[in-house]
Amino acid sequence: MTAIKELSVDILVIGSGAAGLAAAAAAARLGQNVLVADERQTPGGILPQCIHKGFGAGRYGMDMTGPEYLEQEFRKFADSGSGYLPETRIISIAPDRTALAVNTSGLTNITFRDCILATGCSERSVWSLPVSGTRPAGVYTAGEAQEMINLGHYDIGRRIFILGSGDIGQIMARRFVLLGKTVTGMAEIRDTLGGMKRNQEECIKAYGIPVILNSTVTEIHGFPDITGVTLHHLDTGTDSFIECDTLITALGLIPDKTLAEPLLGKNGYPEWIHFCGNSDYVHEIADSASAQGDKLGQLLGGKSL
Ligand SMILES: Cc1cc2nc3c(=O)[nH]c(=O)nc-3n(C[C@H](O)[C@H](O)[C@H](O)COP(=O)(O)OP(=O)(O)OC[C@H]3O[C@@H](n4cnc5c(N)ncnc54)[C@H](O)[C@@H]3O)c2cc1C
Repeated sequence: MTAIKELSVDILVIGSGAAGLAAAAAAARLGQNVLVADERQTPGGILPQCIHKGFGAGRYGMDMTGPEYLEQEFRKFADSGSGYLPETRIISIAPDRTALAVNTSGLTNITFRDCILATGCSERSVWSLPVSGTRPAGVYTAGEAQEMINLGHYDIGRRIFILGSGDIGQIMARRFVLLGKTVTGMAEIRDTLGGMKRNQEECIKAYGIPVILNSTVTEIHGFPDITGVTLHHLDTGTDSFIECDTLITALGLIPDKTLAEPLLGKNGYPEWIHFCGNSDYVHEIADSASAQGDKLGQLLGGKSL
């Protein structure tokens, strides 16, 4: 059996998205021995899949795509001297300030002084709602669809219905239209469209996406593939059937603190666990996640070695 390897650092950063890269770069520039681990093959978290503009206005005074923004951030990170372990998943964090990492070369036990969780967020799925019916193929969260289409180059459906009007759903509505698909509508349970004004204007209004307010999906039809959904209209109490071969959900994001949860005591988390980016709270824009990473990295970078 291969022995577990040992590593020791001042700061372990879990996640190389906008927040993790900025935190690591700021702390490493101040002389800390920093290591970033990310389970993905390439750095940047969700940035590589966001091929639309909308990044960097606050931080660089320019309107960039996600990959362009990542290029700026990664350059700073690479210049900082921080270490980086791609394709490495942290599977647990122990109270003795160690974390267990796994990658293709086996297990590594990483000892640290401080640990930054920059693990991003998860998307609320349709199955978290009281929805009946089958469990067919063709149901994706907006982020999943974004990754499959923009990075995997998959072709996922022709008639798309979107449940929820979060920003990622609006961006994906435009993406589907640009790919020549039919977006039959976007249902929103509230009486107003969600998301940022910019996305409402540039993705929904500009592309004529039909918005159905005060409505939600209550049943999913078809098996093995989705054939349609039942849409319940809260204002009239009526139901209608919407034919579609793909259902996309944009129902909100949930900060991912899973790794730290076993460490939560009655006085909160240990003082050496820190959260930044979407794992702390949902940031509407990447610039804000990076700015929080900068601040945290500078704070921890100022600690005595
Ligand atoms: C799908 C989506 C689209 C968005 N679109 C925009 C947009 O157009 N414009 C904009 O400004 N903002 C957008 N945002 C907002 C978002 O807040 C920021 O873009 C920001 O990039 C989030 O950065 P982060 O570092 O917090 O998280 P992420 O970018 O999610 O990075 C988290 C990283 O942690 C890694 N990770 C998680 N768990 C582990 C583990 N156990 N071990 C190792 N690695 C792990 C993941 O692989 C990932 O690389 C979008 C967000 C999402 C989710």
